[in-house]
Amino acid sequence: MAKQNLMDKVVSLCKRRGFVFQSSEIYGGLGSIWDYGPYGIALKNNIANYWMREMVQLHDNIVGLDAAILMHPRVWEASGHVEGFVDPLVDCKQCKARFKAQDLIAVWRKKNLMDELAGGDITAGKEGDLEELKKINWSKASCTTCGNSGSLTEPRQFNLMLKTFLGPVEDKSATVFLRPETAQGIYVNYQNVMNTARVKLPFGIAQIGKAFRNEITPGNFIFRTREFEQMEMQYFVNPTDASDILIEWRDKRLSYYHKLGIRSEKLRLHQHTKEELAHYAADAYDIEYEFPFGWQELEGIHNRTNFDLSRHMEYSGKDLQYFDPDTKEKFIPYIIETSAGLNRTLLTCLVDAYNEDVQEGEPRTFLSLSPMIAPIKVGVFSLVKKDGLREIADNIASDLRQVGTVFTDHTGSIGKRYRRMDEIGTPWGITVDYQTKEDNTVTLRDRDTLDQSRVSADQLKRIISEKLLTAS
Ligand code: ATP
Repeated sequence: MAKQNLMDKVVSLCKRRGFVFQSSEIYGGLGSIWDYGPYGIALKNNIANYWMREMVQLHDNIVGLDAAILMHPRVWEASGHVEGFVDPLVDCKQCKARFKAQDLIAVWRKKNLMDELAGGDITAGKEGDLEELKKINWSKASCTTCGNSGSLTEPRQFNLMLKTFLGPVEDKSATVFLRPETAQGIYVNYQNVMNTARVKLPFGIAQIGKAFRNEITPGNFIFRTREFEQMEMQYFVNPTDASDILIEWRDKRLSYYHKLGIRSEKLRLHQHTKEELAHYAADAYDIEYEFPFGWQELEGIHNRTNFDLSRHMEYSGKDLQYFDPDTKEKFIPYIIETSAGLNRTLLTCLVDAYNEDVQEGEPRTFLSLSPMIAPIKVGVFSLVKKDGLREIADNIASDLRQVGTVFTDHTGSIGKRYRRMDEIGTPWGITVDYQTKEDNTVTLRDRDTLDQSRVSADQLKRIISEKLLTAS
């Protein structure tokens, strides 16, 4: 399938089947903000629950947290976001297009224009540095949208944090930010958690929550949006162990995506070069996925050193050191962070699971989602509505609801009903027919293999539970 085609098909399926809708659609939509419909929220919750299970339930030293979106403004000074969370922006005076300077440079590099515009290339990784950008003769360059030359402005800094006001007066002292990452909520609670959860180093705090960034170039559907959710785990460690633990988490996180059912050939690791490393990081890896629009970051695993806690110590005046009861040492822990996007993971699952084939002469679209995250686990159908078949199917459905989500459908051709379930990734279909009335058996159909077997209705709860357990 052509790559762009695949993306278009996934977007169209999301809308058609109620996974994702444009925000405020009846008013023409809101730029890069999306709503999740019934199947979308089911899938998103399943992914979030699976992440929480992997992090908190399966580790005896990782605990959960839900910090507020709004935080004390000093947090963002300490974290470096007020000063550093900026992208140099360039405007075209002619067509009014707005670009990240780094995106323009990427285009010019591809076209070998950097010699002409800057007398040579600028240092890789420094595309966000205003001083470095001065090497470029902006007035000579052409706009990559309208093609006009001499219409681009000099780059200026733009902070990506969204602002609002707390309380009735809209002045500077009332300004608060919508958090651009969930991590800081964990750092400022690190001592609260330590004092209450009886944890010792190394230990982790896991959190899922909304984050907001006034992205200049959002896009690719839900890949990069202005409101999104992060799944972050911050692991507090002794500095001497940090390098090894980073590698452990890198490998664990990669295998998590395999378990989630993502094809391994579509996943790869990228270690940050010196130029790419964030100011707070000593070493970092990205887990990347090959989207239809190229290899892109899915999750970052970073050794953030003691940067964050040191800064919060400095800005809050509170002692955030750790006292090791065994060695009697006192030190500021290092932090190994695993930071994943929930919406981006959801998009990955959809793109990776999208399949088309032909069954009995009819084209079929199916999502080969892992049963663990599929929005609906079982479709239950009666061959015909009459003769008591519908009642039997409804009884089976209500019994199975104790095990997982169930969808019932009693009208239309059975083939069409199966295909509707395939399209949203439902792993199993159950059909009640006249034989059910005689021997209490039903047909159990598998979405991927299309195997159909006759099983006893009494056994369904056990069979589906076992299948779900094996899948997790
Ligand atoms: P990118 O380079 O893609 O903007 P980043 O390096 O700024 O990402 P981080 O700050 O490390 O990203 O955020 C961690 C994760 O949060 C990313 O790997 C991604 O999955 C998710 N994420 C970040 N920004 C967005 C966004 N605007 N929309 C959706 N998900 C995002």
